[in-house]
Amino acid sequence: MSKGKFGYYNPEKPQENRITDVGPIHYMQGLPPILRKNYGKWLSHRILEPGILMHVAESGDKVYTVRCGGARLMTVEHIREICDIADKYANGYVRWTTRNNVEFIVESEEKAKELKKELESRKHVAGSYKFPVGGTGMGITNIVHTQGWVHCHTPATDASGPVKAVMDELFNYFKSMTLPAKLRVSLACCLNMCGAVHCSDIALLGYHRKPPAIDHEVLQKVCEIPLVVAACPLYAIKPITLEDGKTKSVQVNVEKCMYCGNCYTMCMALPLADKEGDGVAILAGGKLSNRISPPKFSKVIVPWLPNNMPRWPEVVNTVKKIVEVYAKDARKYERLGDWAERIGWEKFFEKVGLEFSWHLLDDYRLAYDTFRTSTQFKYTDHAWAVSKAVGGI
Ligand code: SF4
Ligand code: SF4
Repeated sequence: MSKGKFGYYNPEKPQENRITDVGPIHYMQGLPPILRKNYGKWLSHRILEPGILMHVAESGDKVYTVRCGGARLMTVEHIREICDIADKYANGYVRWTTRNNVEFIVESEEKAKELKKELESRKHVAGSYKFPVGGTGMGITNIVHTQGWVHCHTPATDASGPVKAVMDELFNYFKSMTLPAKLRVSLACCLNMCGAVHCSDIALLGYHRKPPAIDHEVLQKVCEIPLVVAACPLYAIKPITLEDGKTKSVQVNVEKCMYCGNCYTMCMALPLADKEGDGVAILAGGKLSNRISPPKFSKVIVPWLPNNMPRWPEVVNTVKKIVEVYAKDARKYERLGDWAERIGWEKFFEKVGLEFSWHLLDDYRLAYDTFRTSTQFKYTDHAWAVSKAVGGI
């Protein structure tokens, strides 16, 4: 590996060449030499078997990637074990995908298969896989998710908990490639959606149903009222003086509130977590790819399910039913949204056993413009006229 601009860290002389705030290393230094050599010159790739990919470069070089499931939260011991495996098989190189999968890149198919065998052989004390290999092609890869109750302040559901419960049920689809097309499942624990669940085949979204409670006593001591008022995207908060004539506080217009939690981000005296109010909404049919049809937003198909800890059975059963019906009914290469659109969304609800109402699906006001972020769309005079009519660009 290149010694980079500043050389290696010397534990014997920790102050040597010490410069702070230099940021991360240049990403090229983290690439295996074969990837650096063929950077931007990859011709094709194939999935040889679940969990093993082969990439071919213009130069004729080939690399083999072994993908195994990871977790959003890992112990130091677990990461050390991953690093040991990387040292043994992949010259010390390892990468994490955006869906928290772990990938090792090796130079031969034999080595890839040997590594797959080794990864599958490592088990937790209770017997479950430590590094299940899979998550490629026409299957379900890891669920990308947010922080949940572990360390964010506005979640309406947990992240790791429901993800574990759902993924336990979908595990066979992770290890195989038996679905009509790839299926992406995501979870964000509040509607700020830092997990970007808005365009996944199946998306789980934590949803509050009650406005923030107001602790007037705490609020006047710790919060800046103008900041709280300004934090609300819907102007639902106004400053007030309480009946005692001197205590300054705020009031929430409940009719306007959309339970986003922005005010709680600014002021700890406005908590909105609530046992009865909080739960999970399910969205479906989103995707990013342009194949068969343009990219789509996920649409709401189940407005709310309870946070039934520790295994979220209502959420798990709904997701499982959707995946099973999709696996049986969709045509080859059809993503979940393509399938639902072909059979019709009403039929989709009928097949997966969910209740349909006009409140569901999609009513996004600026959809005319955002749907056009596709290579399949060409602007015409008519299209511009529609944009203008709905107040878009
Ligand atoms: Fe926090 Fe919301 Fe992100 Fe969850 S989705 S981690 S609650 S900001
Ligand atoms: Fe406004 Fe969101 Fe707070 Fe409701 S939860 S009052 S919409 S900032």
